[in-house]
Amino acid sequence: MDDRTKSPLTTKTLVAQASGVRELITGAITQPIHMSSTFLRDADNRYPAGFVYGRTDNASLQQAEDLIAKLEGAEEAFLFGSGMAAAASVLLALTKPTHIIASKVMYWGFRSWLREIGRYGHSVSFVETSDLDAVRAAVRPGETGLFWIETPSNPLWTITDIAAVADIAQSTGAILCVDSTVATPVFTRPLALGADIVMHSATKYLNGHSDVVAGALASAHDSELWARLRTMRGQLGNALGAFDAWLLMRGMRTLDIRVHSQARTAAILSERLVGHPEIAEVLYPGLAEHPGHATALRQMHGGFGGMFSIRIGKGERAAIAVAASVNLWKRATSFGGIESLIEHRASIEGDGSPCPGDLLRFSAGLEDADELYLDLMQALAAIA
Ligand code: PLP
Repeated sequence: MDDRTKSPLTTKTLVAQASGVRELITGAITQPIHMSSTFLRDADNRYPAGFVYGRTDNASLQQAEDLIAKLEGAEEAFLFGSGMAAAASVLLALTKPTHIIASKVMYWGFRSWLREIGRYGHSVSFVETSDLDAVRAAVRPGETGLFWIETPSNPLWTITDIAAVADIAQSTGAILCVDSTVATPVFTRPLALGADIVMHSATKYLNGHSDVVAGALASAHDSELWARLRTMRGQLGNALGAFDAWLLMRGMRTLDIRVHSQARTAAILSERLVGHPEIAEVLYPGLAEHPGHATALRQMHGGFGGMFSIRIGKGERAAIAVAASVNLWKRATSFGGIESLIEHRASIEGDGSPCPGDLLRFSAGLEDADELYLDLMQALAAIA
């Protein structure tokens, strides 16, 4: 059963029916794209539909936001022009100097930005958040106001116990934000586990077609911070555009079926790769030997996501050679799309990254799992 609190329908039905959105004038099943940047006032000086101006109001945007809110069991969701814009907005909406506890392993682009958060008067401690004692030890009473965790975390796929960190955050009087991009609302609902805000790079699984850059925040409840985020987004004009919101909505309608298939393929491949002579380690939270497996079993339902990594025993040059030898897997950054991707992560992450040089990251797409496996086998044979 689906444990979503604010909608009685399952994810599968919600996304397939685009949360029931329909066009009232023509009865079209597919919504038009609302491109207007301004809206008519009535003769009585009111805006009958409540829409005023395109920087803050757009029906295509609202439809996609409404679906994300339902998927996450949230009070409300906001879409931004990228995942980075969504994540950074939370920090920019803080009103007083705040100590932030953030996952040591997380999307490198946001970690780089957080490392320079001092310019806004805040401070950050990067902590291995899968280690709850380390999380507790990092708390600075009276100063820690925000926990930022990513689970599974990119690209090592460590698992942080959301409910346990939510308890620590609550006892500290701090807010918990969870980057749930990899888990998707299909497998994990951080708000039901006690998080305040959930964030997605909607560029990844939510859209799923590698043709939109977008970010989402969804909040469990209205709050001062959430109200500031609403105001700030209207002022800065960094909401997602109508055309991209429409594309995202189209992508989300197949979310459930896509991510289940991708997670199945990732599970099949990671299980088969364990014990391969060229592979020192397979990192996937669905594997029984993964250190976060027990926690993943508790907080991920129906799958462990479509992302896994391997470490090549012969080191970095051999890892790059494997990536160079695949045919079906596409060498590209990002993830969550239809096509399977491979990436030598250390090449992109740069200084201060916890990513080892021998690591290859995989995003399972929708291709046949056996064909993906055989392609990888011939690439591994090239370094034998
Ligand atoms: N969070 C995670 C886990 C990501 O992987 C990414 C991008 O790769 C982001 C956030 C940033 O999202 P975007 O690229 O949409 O700005």
